[in-house]
Amino acid sequence: MSPVKVTKICCIGAGYVGGPTCSVIALKCPHIRVTIVDLNQARIDAWNSDDFNLPIYEPGLEDVVRQARGRNLFFSTDVDKAIEEADLIFVSVNTPTKKSGVGAGFAADLNYVELATRRIATIARSNKIVVEKSTVPCRTAESMRTILEANSKPNCRFDILSNPEFLAEGTAMTDLFKPDRVLIGSLQTPEGISACQSLAQVYANWVPKECILTVGLWSSELSKLAANAMLAQRISSINALSAICEATGANIDEVSNAVGYDTRIGPKFLKASVGFGGSCFQKDILNLVYLSESLHLPEVAAYWRQVVDMNEYQKRRFSQRVVDTLFKTITGKRIAVLGFAFKADTGDTRESAAITLIKDFLSERAFVNVYDPKVVHEQIWMDLQEASPLVPLDNIKKQVTISPSAFEAAQGADAIVIATEWKEFRDIDWERLYKGMNKPAFVFDGRLLVDAEKLTKIGFKVTTIGRPSPL
Ligand code: NAD
Repeated sequence: MSPVKVTKICCIGAGYVGGPTCSVIALKCPHIRVTIVDLNQARIDAWNSDDFNLPIYEPGLEDVVRQARGRNLFFSTDVDKAIEEADLIFVSVNTPTKKSGVGAGFAADLNYVELATRRIATIARSNKIVVEKSTVPCRTAESMRTILEANSKPNCRFDILSNPEFLAEGTAMTDLFKPDRVLIGSLQTPEGISACQSLAQVYANWVPKECILTVGLWSSELSKLAANAMLAQRISSINALSAICEATGANIDEVSNAVGYDTRIGPKFLKASVGFGGSCFQKDILNLVYLSESLHLPEVAAYWRQVVDMNEYQKRRFSQRVVDTLFKTITGKRIAVLGFAFKADTGDTRESAAITLIKDFLSERAFVNVYDPKVVHEQIWMDLQEASPLVPLDNIKKQVTISPSAFEAAQGADAIVIATEWKEFRDIDWERLYKGMNKPAFVFDGRLLVDAEKLTKIGFKVTTIGRPSPL
């Protein structure tokens, strides 16, 4: 069976994955018309904005959209039209962890995937290749196939592929231009293999053939969860060791450097921190926990659960260290939190450690000045309100100030807490920050970002993850 040549792509979901991924496909495949659709009008308006004020911040993204938008890249809320026209459809909708109901706190909420799949089934009048781009539990493709086949028109065939996305926010464009691998899972039937080849041909426009891996559907779905779980596990492992370093006088930088020299381990992803955040790691591990439990594998579930628990412990431990170091009380003190995004080079705040830290500081009755170079103010208020739903926003606003710069955040503060590893915090004029602060002036480096010796010479009392406290 020869593969269909893809000429029209529809991507359902114009978020952090669908937007950048399909913009790059459009750039690299000028012969393919790519339409990215979303139900969220404001998001689509931002993608289409004249001044390229895009809904997400990602270095290099604007340049790609400038080149392709209006040529063969389109953003629209007309989901049905894009589905009808396309021969290949990416489903790149959100799959958050369930917040209520059976399996709440563990299971993936597949409602958005199901609604998008039902829409495809209702609208499609010709054969479609449907590609799971969203991260989903193992065997979700089977449910999608059942829904599609039960609702399809006569002579309309659906082939389902899994093509999980491995990009990391902050480096999304580099990851998309030069991926470590592109993974495509399909049923091992002639139709499935042919659909897989159609998608592989799209990526082959810029990805070397040896980096395009084709596997079975279930392996592909599970590989995505496995990759995120193992990345998060490395962070939790190094963070667990950072606690031992703080208690013993060992230095976590030296330990991770020594460990990373082992070629079997390697140096990447061994940086201790206040904890991982982002929309994926925790969610995908909980997904794996849920899957393990539903397969009656409680020990496997407990093993992965521990990675998340360690992350929560790391955040709590850090907040406690701030309180302990500031003479065991932060009531009435002012803390400047530098960074609100879950990592540098993104405006995304989902599961950001900064949210947990600020919540802890507020519950200890401290005042907080927060500064982030990219996160919009409304997002900060929304996240803080969501973190403390029982506290009226007006009360939160009495304790929190959003500052226009790091200097203003530090003015009159007792301590600076580095929550995000923005490069500008490393290179900032620390002497100037010091001058504006109450003394003694403390720095808590949650990202191993600053030169602790240099700051100590200026006069700061510096507390760093994975090293004993200065006091
Ligand atoms: P997101 O929330 O930024 O975007 C999803 C978009 O889908 C939203 O704009 C939403 O309005 C839209 N949507 C939902 N249902 C729709 C429907 N029926 N029709 C049209 N639009 C609809 O999410 P994201 O960060 O882009 O993540 C998408 C998927 O990719 C998730 O499964 C996630 O786990 C996975 N993923 C995310 C990342 C990441 O770094 N963010 C990386 C790899 C994989």
